Amino acid sequence: MAVWGAVWSQLHLFFLPGMAGVVSAQLCTGLSCLAVTLATLSAITALDRDHLPRRLGPATLVLGGVIGVLGVPLAFMRAGPIMALADVLGVLILVDLLAVAVCLGCAWRRGSAEARTFAVAWSLPMAALAVAQFLDVDMLFWGGGSQTLVLLAAAWQTLWLSFAASRTHARLRVERDRARRAEAQAHELARRDPLTGLRNRRGFIDVVTPMLEAARANASPIALLIVDVDWFKRINDAHGHEAGDMVLATIARRIGRWEGALCTVARLGGEEFALMIGGLEGFALARFADSVRQEVAACDHHAAIGGGKVTVSIGVAEAAKGADFRHLYRLADEALYTAKHRGRDQVVLRSLDDASEHAYRFAVGA
Ligand code: GH3
Ligand code: MG
Ligand code: MG
Repeated sequence: MAVWGAVWSQLHLFFLPGMAGVVSAQLCTGLSCLAVTLATLSAITALDRDHLPRRLGPATLVLGGVIGVLGVPLAFMRAGPIMALADVLGVLILVDLLAVAVCLGCAWRRGSAEARTFAVAWSLPMAALAVAQFLDVDMLFWGGGSQTLVLLAAAWQTLWLSFAASRTHARLRVERDRARRAEAQAHELARRDPLTGLRNRRGFIDVVTPMLEAARANASPIALLIVDVDWFKRINDAHGHEAGDMVLATIARRIGRWEGALCTVARLGGEEFALMIGGLEGFALARFADSVRQEVAACDHHAAIGGGKVTVSIGVAEAAKGADFRHLYRLADEALYTAKHRGRDQVVLRSLDDASEHAYRFAVGA
């Protein structure tokens, strides 16, 4: 377009006076055909395929291509059927403009914002072309009528297209932010247990991984507690699955209160919960785990199962200088197994460092 503009404005003659006359006209013909092809391509491909008439859209593209191809021989011809070809080209360009206008009109009617942008951007240049064709405007504005008209049309088109581009850009930004928010929400939902709202296993691992890395890096103590409801199947069998769900939700609410900077909680699945806690070891850790056991056992399940105590067993795995999740989980699971075998409703603590094992059940309030 820049080359065409330079040729059309005769600017090139200042540098290459030898091009004056036929060479210049030939170049102009080739470039103007290319411009029509590119403008057709740009208008049609900017529209959504669903908004275009089914046959007319592709046909217009083909027509635009034919005009571009026809421009090649016309750019080189100096003799032969130039006039006949020029007539054919004139008709084709008119048909092409009409087809593009129909496509834009149809797409606009079908709700295409791009069609509206293109139609408004091109309306003034087309009107200017028609006015220049049918009225003699050369003598207006002290002899600069047609140039002023072209400048006006080009300025309008540039302003309108840049305005539309900024509007589209702003809309895309809003949509991108919305998509990011939805993605973050989906990410968070995939890591939450729907019944209790606690993190699920995947969410738990996401959060505890950096905790474990920090404990390893600082050689500080970290512990995993696996909390398993005792005889939960019996609750389901006696009161139904729904009552079982209510019991789990009540326990989850209580366990959720330990969530904090040093402690992450989750429902690992079924009637099994987990707490990862940093900074506690030995006796202090055993006291903490037993307070979890006591507090959970003190939950009120009156609404779900008409009263009665629901106890939990807790397997604890501690590592004085950090550890990886797999090791801690295996150890805590073994400790839980021991707690179940020893009669449930108790805490069994195992240490990763010295393979020691201790069972705890402090007196309430001790
Ligand atoms: P133990 O003291 O040995 O842990 O016995 P238990 O009955 O608690 O353990 P068991 O593994 O035999 O049974 C667990 C039951 O938890 C079986 C399963 O139907 C039930 N369960 C798992 N997920 C859910 C749930 O989301 N809602 C309800 N209501 N029940 C669940
Ligand atoms: Mg159980
Ligand atoms: Mg279980």
